[in-house]
Amino acid sequence: MKKLIIIHTGGTISMLENKDTGEVNTTEDHPLSNIPYNFRTNVIIDEHIAFSLPSPHITPNHMLELAKSIDKFLIEYDGIVVTHGTDTLEETAYFLDLVLDTEKPVILTGAMRSSNEIGSDALYNLISSIRVVLSPDAYSKGVLVVMNDEIHSAINVTKTSTSNIATFQSPQYGPIGIITKESIIFHHQLVARTTYPVENISKQVFLLKAYAGMDNKLFEIIHDGHPDGLVIEGLGQGNLPKETIPSIRKLINENIPIVLVSRSFRGTVGPTYAYEGGGRQLKDMGVIFTNGLTGPKARLKLLIALENTTDHMVLRDIFEKEF
Ligand code: ASP
Repeated sequence: MKKLIIIHTGGTISMLENKDTGEVNTTEDHPLSNIPYNFRTNVIIDEHIAFSLPSPHITPNHMLELAKSIDKFLIEYDGIVVTHGTDTLEETAYFLDLVLDTEKPVILTGAMRSSNEIGSDALYNLISSIRVVLSPDAYSKGVLVVMNDEIHSAINVTKTSTSNIATFQSPQYGPIGIITKESIIFHHQLVARTTYPVENISKQVFLLKAYAGMDNKLFEIIHDGHPDGLVIEGLGQGNLPKETIPSIRKLINENIPIVLVSRSFRGTVGPTYAYEGGGRQLKDMGVIFTNGLTGPKARLKLLIALENTTDHMVLRDIFEKEF
């Protein structure tokens, strides 16, 4: 018989709507305990409340604490479902994907409408996630996100709408599987996955988004904040306004790694353009380019990578060669 555990962390999936005021908030007892569903197999489902936090309150240290408890639960359980607020769900999912070295299924889910709202997706998404954990095909897929009848890889998924229940999408590659009434169907798989177990999260990494007319001011403020690393969501294929270059050079000369992703959510960054501030100049200066990650995910990866190394060449390999 399979043994699963649901770990609750908070978010709308753990909340109820107040019918008088319309406000949505946490409750004393979890609204989704004792699931009324026949999984058509013998399964033991336990529950654990890790946190009761709206997901904007979740920090990388909460993610690390969660990873450590998942590691312990995986000794006894065959799979894990984590319920989480949707605002930062993709960050926790990717953090867990980077640090958990397991072939067992670990799935994150959430809800756009709390349990007692009309058309709630809370119980539905939880049941779907348990069905995916029970599928033998869910092994060796990395950390997954299950929402709205779709299965997404943690690395690719992002919240695209503030309110629609179809909010979670993988814009570059699409979901890796779907959930029907009868089956769980995986239709692609990640080619590779590397994990970087860590004991602590102690570094300071900032994230900046580039914009037309950006100059050195924000870079100087970040410099004065003594960062251990910086992630920039650059323009297009990986370019920046030329006014930012002196500050970027200063940070790199002080051995502060700078990782560049694109603020566009499809396509890749590369040393294509040779004008001042273009990708080629940035790359020649030592900016590390990475693909397939949003700015917040690249930031988590840099936070984790910096716990293991500050060697620029090793960091470059982690971001440019490993997945
Ligand atoms: N603001 C909520 C949260 O992330 C949204 C949700 O759970 O869907 O906690």
